[in-house]
Amino acid sequence: MNTFSIAIHGGAGTLVKGMMTPELETRYKAALQLALDSGYHILESGGTATEAVEKAVVVLEDSPLFNAGKGSVFTATESHEMDASIMDGKTLNAGAVSLITGIKNPVSLARDVMEKSEHVFLAGDGAMQFAKELDYNLEGSSYFYDELRHNQWLEIKDTDSFQLDHAKKKDSKFGTVGAVACDKEGNIAAATSTGGMTNKKWGRVGDSPMIGAGNYANNKTCAISCTGSGEFFIRGVVAYDVACLIEHKGLSLEAAASEVIHKRILEIKGDGGLIAIDTKGNIAMPFNTEGMYRASKSSTGTEEVSIYK
Ligand code: ASP
Repeated sequence: MNTFSIAIHGGAGTLVKGMMTPELETRYKAALQLALDSGYHILESGGTATEAVEKAVVVLEDSPLFNAGKGSVFTATESHEMDASIMDGKTLNAGAVSLITGIKNPVSLARDVMEKSEHVFLAGDGAMQFAKELDYNLEGSSYFYDELRHNQWLEIKDTDSFQLDHAKKKDSKFGTVGAVACDKEGNIAAATSTGGMTNKKWGRVGDSPMIGAGNYANNKTCAISCTGSGEFFIRGVVAYDVACLIEHKGLSLEAAASEVIHKRILEIKGDGGLIAIDTKGNIAMPFNTEGMYRASKSSTGTEEVSIYK
């Protein structure tokens, strides 16, 4: 049997030790642990990597602590526009949605795009029409309301600025969520979900739903989920770049992930991190910010739930 393992993230950023109350830190770690265990349980019972990453991301989307699903940040028009993607490394099938509203679990809609449509990427009104045809329930705006997120938005709403879930502040962080997994068969998958950036407008879309930029999976190389300033991760084609370094330069998972996050993306001033896995169940979780909400668990017995460097 193959080593099976899973890694998750809840965003990277200026997460400095001592900044958060011990109570809040405990809440974050408990939320990460719950998502990790939910995904790992699926792998342990013989489920696929795709099922495991979807489940882990659903749990993170249901938490108000992260900028995805329930905890999504506010747009310039005081609404929520969410993006998500999922990719199966065995088949190279992928599904993605962007600019969707009212959907409790965007990652599940992305999986439906992958499995129930002929397409890869559906956006805006069309994606909502697709959800309607699949009988998705729509949540009202009160489901997504969070006082902290609303205050973040009130502070910048009349300006032209948009920010990455509290960027340039002492507690600057990106709250996008993601998961990568390797199942007992040695197949890998990746999923990513986000509310994007506070006060975003003009239908701004980041890297999270873009296959190859914020999310990628291929059994030949690795599965990746990113978090950080989306504009830079799109230009750096970050997730696919890690896969390319493995495929064409023969780098290990750890070396390739580190090269992209600590060198190549920094050269274009991109800040953030990623989680990576390969078909042997190896995991890498590099970030070039002060911290990244992250956790991993492997059938070899290793387990980690961390926030800081
Ligand atoms: N990458 C996301 C975006 O640009 C933000 C994040 O990672 O929090 O939409």
